[in-house]
Amino acid sequence: MSEYRHHDHKLAAKAAKEAVGIWNARRAAGADLWMYPTVAAAMTAGCPWLHFVCSSCQHSSAVDVRTFKGHRAASISGIIPEILCERCQRQGEVRLIRLSPDQRV
Ligand SMILES: [Zn+2]
Repeated sequence: MSEYRHHDHKLAAKAAKEAVGIWNARRAAGADLWMYPTVAAAMTAGCPWLHFVCSSCQHSSAVDVRTFKGHRAASISGIIPEILCERCQRQGEVRLIRLSPDQRV
């Protein structure tokens, strides 16, 4: 049973990594985005750090999607209104860049 669960978790992680990978690649290419991964997908993929650029002052930073209280089935774009730029203090005016395993920009 535990072996089955372990296998199941590996499959889920693989699928989540695919979803996050597609989004990261389309974002990086400047392609149209037709979907955003869910918070759960980002976490399951091991990529909880959401990197962004402030639309006002161009400051780049990252937030940990695990720290937001919204539903985990919500897409990561739902976090945008809550993201605060620590440089200019504007809130919700950011462009999402990518999901990654670490905070390093
Ligand atoms: Zn800013």
